Amino acid sequence: MSDFSKLAINQFTTLHRWSLTQAIEGYARNGVHAMGIVRDKLQEVGVREARRCLDAHDMTVTCYCIGGLLTDSDPDRFRVNLNETRRAIDEAAEIGAGCLVFVAGGLPEGSRDLPAARARCLEGLAEILPHAREAGVSLALEPLHPMICAFRSCLSTLAQANDWIDALGAGPELGIVVDVYHVWWDPDMERGIERSAGRILSFHVCDWLMDTTDLRLDRGMMGDGVIDIRRIRRLVEAAGYNGYREVEIFSERNWWRRDPDEVVAIAKARYLSDVI
Ligand code: ZN
Repeated sequence: MSDFSKLAINQFTTLHRWSLTQAIEGYARNGVHAMGIVRDKLQEVGVREARRCLDAHDMTVTCYCIGGLLTDSDPDRFRVNLNETRRAIDEAAEIGAGCLVFVAGGLPEGSRDLPAARARCLEGLAEILPHAREAGVSLALEPLHPMICAFRSCLSTLAQANDWIDALGAGPELGIVVDVYHVWWDPDMERGIERSAGRILSFHVCDWLMDTTDLRLDRGMMGDGVIDIRRIRRLVEAAGYNGYREVEIFSERNWWRRDPDEVVAIAKARYLSDVI
């Protein structure tokens, strides 16, 4: 029998066609028992119903997406996102998520001051970490591809994520997501993964399409693009990571339009192939 015990599917992969309960049921029906949960989708059904459905289907929650966006120079907006992140930490605890994925945020509106945005995010992290520690939830910094630095994440590389963790002197309450889509291009990726040893909380897979039409929402299925996923998987394993390989595909033009059962079946087939 094929072994899918390390396969997880992030709910973003079936974002539009399945609600949270449909996704839990759908993944379980296809023999996948680990998933990442999207915050908006959890809020549609509520924590209690989600918890019930997760338990009924023996579903492990790998990660909860997302918290963060703490780069705003406007104190009120900064505070709003800080409070949202606090709430996301509490929800992650309630659904037993392995970690809360932390996305840094881009430049505040009208700003050209990237160093200030980064410094602001570090301040926000310092402020939120005690809450994460108390809740027993780890924050997982996800460096995102530099093409989306302006509007989504001023945290772009594994080196930077490690620098931030070092600067904060954080313990296990702060770790890293290695997402192949965001790190594959980096000439220092190998060193970045080595340096992340003991800090990798989540490993996301998909592919970079040669003819990509959108910086965020046109990801490919593993094997359809140019990323040497297997090599990166071996690097994270060499760094001590032994957890799930989580399929996370944002795909406006293709996968979000397909029947989710078919998407899951294809993801499983690729998982078993030699691309991962
Ligand atoms: Zn990811």
